Amino acid sequence: MNSSNRRSYQRDYHAKQQRYRTDRTYRRRQLEAMLERHQELRLAALKHYSEGLMRCRWCGIPDVRVLCLDHIADDGKTHRQEVGTGTAFLRAIAKAGYPPILQVLCFNCNYLKHLGASTTQPVNWYTVEAPEEVSDTAFLLDHLLSSGEASFP
Ligand SMILES: [Zn+2]
Repeated sequence: MNSSNRRSYQRDYHAKQQRYRTDRTYRRRQLEAMLERHQELRLAALKHYSEGLMRCRWCGIPDVRVLCLDHIADDGKTHRQEVGTGTAFLRAIAKAGYPPILQVLCFNCNYLKHLGASTTQPVNWYTVEAPEEVSDTAFLLDHLLSSGEASFP
């Protein structure tokens, strides 16, 4: 960039900054475009890491609002320190061709993993079934029997 181009660039930059500060409609459009770009990147990443199925790998929930990207090896902290967070993070993994270090989990399963539930088996997305149903009655019966609050002949 030569000095004339640089001056022109700086003039544009400052004009945009000034407009961003003073023009509410412009600011709103800029923010909307930013959010839209973030959503596009997020959905593209979720789609890639769920093989297009947009489901939690553990429980199979298909609600995109509760899905997140999980670092399989729990090394997310160092990875985020390297590439950044939020949109910068999404941009970095897209640019890197979606390295196979992430998986799609829902926030609940992600938290269960955090609590150490690493033994939960990934579900087969193509035959997702609800886990074996545990009725309230069976649960209550187990509780009563094991706590000694009830006994049966
Ligand atoms: Zn889940």
